[in-house]
Amino acid sequence: MSVFSKLIAWSIPFIPKVVVGYFSRPYIAGETLEDGIRVVRELNARGIMATMDVLGESVDSREETLRMRRECEDVLHAIKKNNLDANLSIKPTQMGLAIDPSFFEENARVLLDIARGYDNFVRLDMEDHPYTDLTLEMYERLRRDYGRHVGVVLQSYLRRTEDDLRTLIAGGETNIRLCKGIYVEPERIAYKDRKEVRESFRRSVELSLSSGVYIGIATHDDVLLEHAVEYVSAKDIKREEYEFQMLLGVRHQRRDELVAMGHRLRVYVPFGDQWYPYSTRRLKENPSMAMHVIKAILGMGK
Ligand SMILES: Cc1cc2nc3c(=O)[nH]c(=O)nc-3n(C[C@H](O)[C@H](O)[C@H](O)COP(=O)(O)OP(=O)(O)OC[C@H]3O[C@@H](n4cnc5c(N)ncnc54)[C@H](O)[C@@H]3O)c2cc1C
Repeated sequence: MSVFSKLIAWSIPFIPKVVVGYFSRPYIAGETLEDGIRVVRELNARGIMATMDVLGESVDSREETLRMRRECEDVLHAIKKNNLDANLSIKPTQMGLAIDPSFFEENARVLLDIARGYDNFVRLDMEDHPYTDLTLEMYERLRRDYGRHVGVVLQSYLRRTEDDLRTLIAGGETNIRLCKGIYVEPERIAYKDRKEVRESFRRSVELSLSSGVYIGIATHDDVLLEHAVEYVSAKDIKREEYEFQMLLGVRHQRRDELVAMGHRLRVYVPFGDQWYPYSTRRLKENPSMAMHVIKAILGMGK
């Protein structure tokens, strides 16, 4: 992390919430399900698929977890009702993983029953390392019963990821989103060097595609996008066997170029009233946006 990025990361908790809200608007569809539906419709009209995310994480009460679960159920019903080309992403700690793994499993099964009934799909996002083993264990249990209706995420910054990928491949049909990873993890378990994270990402893309695994290539990094585009073309991999994935509000132009080239692409569409932790993570990733925030606070912006 550069000194500048460290400074940004350090200063974000001191920025008033209302300012964070203003600058994180491009990354969030809005506060309501209707906002999410509107944004997904706009994306679908441009030939782009979506995955919808009800913002919320590290939920620590059963009551709040059940409230979040009901919101996620509503998302699945709304996707069907509005005929949207979209699926659902959930954070395991939003569905009770930190409270009790069996409570998480119960909640995930309720959502997966609905998703399977609609021939849709639920993705378990990957959070920080205290939850990696548990999330993968839960995924293994769920995929036994829900097969192609459930998927998981691997993070290329984790040193363990290629081993995890091999284990998932050996276990049968799997659907993986590969991303770099967003949390600050200790060096003993995570690559810190940008080049190493990229190399790990490339190796996992190649291993997945050469093993016939359906992979969501979730990155905005030109080096990795070019590698994936070249690899699928060189190996003659069919467009139905992978998709690119990007975050709402990030790199529109590159996104549209990939779609125009004929690749499948899915945008992660977060919405909901609990937008603050998600927004601060996005701002930390984007120093130029964060610079605008700081200028605005110091009264230097126009
Ligand atoms: C669909 C999707 C789902 C994800 N799910 C998870 C998950 O479950 N768990 C997890 O740990 N992480 C997840 N991530 C986040 C991911 O791990 C990275 O933190 C994030 O995608 C940035 O990495 P990058 O590969 O785009 O490369 P970077 O090197 O970070 O970015 C490449 C370029 O993209 C642009 N860019 C990137 N981020 C921003 C931004 N916020 N604003 C403006 N421009 C930006 C910049 O131009 C940057 O130079 C997900 C990402 C995507 C796209």
